[in-house]
Amino acid sequence: MSTTPDHGEPFRYDAEVRPGEKRRILYEVGESYLGDPVELPITIINGARSGPRAFVSAAMHGDEVNGVKVVQEVADRYDPQELAGTIVCLHVVNVPGYRAHMRYLPIYDRDLNRAFPGSERGNEGQRMAKVIYDRFVSNCDFGVDFHTSTRNKVTIFHTRADMSDPAVAEVANAFLSSVVLDGGGSKGMLRRVASEDGIPTITVEMGEAHRYQPRMVETALDRLHNLFTYFGMVDGDAMAEPVWQRVVGSKEKAWIRSNAGGWIDMEWGPYPIVTEGEAVCTVSDHFKREVHVVEAPFTGLIVGMAANPITVPGQIIAHLVSIDEADREVIEDIVDEHGYASLGTYHWMGRSDEGSAGRPKRPLDDGTDTDVGTAAP
Ligand SMILES: [Zn+2]
Repeated sequence: MSTTPDHGEPFRYDAEVRPGEKRRILYEVGESYLGDPVELPITIINGARSGPRAFVSAAMHGDEVNGVKVVQEVADRYDPQELAGTIVCLHVVNVPGYRAHMRYLPIYDRDLNRAFPGSERGNEGQRMAKVIYDRFVSNCDFGVDFHTSTRNKVTIFHTRADMSDPAVAEVANAFLSSVVLDGGGSKGMLRRVASEDGIPTITVEMGEAHRYQPRMVETALDRLHNLFTYFGMVDGDAMAEPVWQRVVGSKEKAWIRSNAGGWIDMEWGPYPIVTEGEAVCTVSDHFKREVHVVEAPFTGLIVGMAANPITVPGQIIAHLVSIDEADREVIEDIVDEHGYASLGTYHWMGRSDEGSAGRPKRPLDDGTDTDVGTAAP
């Protein structure tokens, strides 16, 4: 029998990357206030064999840097000689924001993740988006866009995806997404525009803005590797879906906000789970005269929370998604077995058991803080 040898296929943007080539480029997507080019660092790894074309992108919000490390490692790790298909690494999508350590495009706070698919005659964000989308994203078959929570918040490792689209769900599952917030996303968002355009794309949220959280980065790299393996881009065995998954609809999640100004003391722990009616945290004034207890509106998993302990009425304290008893058991098992690394970061909780990550148990009262609470008349 004879088979046609697979010599791969060139990857085209407005130039061509040959099969078996890894190309690192700075691609002009706009101009600065000084008129010099704004250049996006991109690595294109084009496999020696043909296969699907995937994009991985980071820093769409310029201060969300965990994903930048993920993309740097992907660009470094994969050898085109051992790859079937193409990996397009968009290292830093929002270059002006990244330079300024800012979420949005400086200086008018324009959200690049509302600017897709872009427009040649549009605002500065839409023009950048147009170049990025037309040249690179639209030449891919699926994608993963890496984000973190906004500054002064923290989020566990989770996926946002339109699970009603089977192609998107397939990507989310092969990325081994355990917690999925289901929804199409906002108008102009890269994952929504690309998914509707037949390029199934998921958003991955992990950790905090302005921070490098290596364990989350490792998790992301492991899951991307499974995704690439699943689609036959790299050799090996892949899982088609995670061991455990909770797909959360819009009605099953809630932002818990403070109704008072003051200091937050988290009360939850050792598991990132709160039971309906139970205290999530307290908010107290500096004299501890008024202590407001914030209760959980339903039983749920805390997927995000404030990273800053001072708050005012209306600010977000926690992001809660509902879970059932089976979910609870799985989450508790995961935390018992792997600590918090597998779920993401939880560096702030009230109740901590021996061995769990988190702050140590409250020390016993040794009499050194007797001024507190006794000075009031
Ligand atoms: Zn973001």
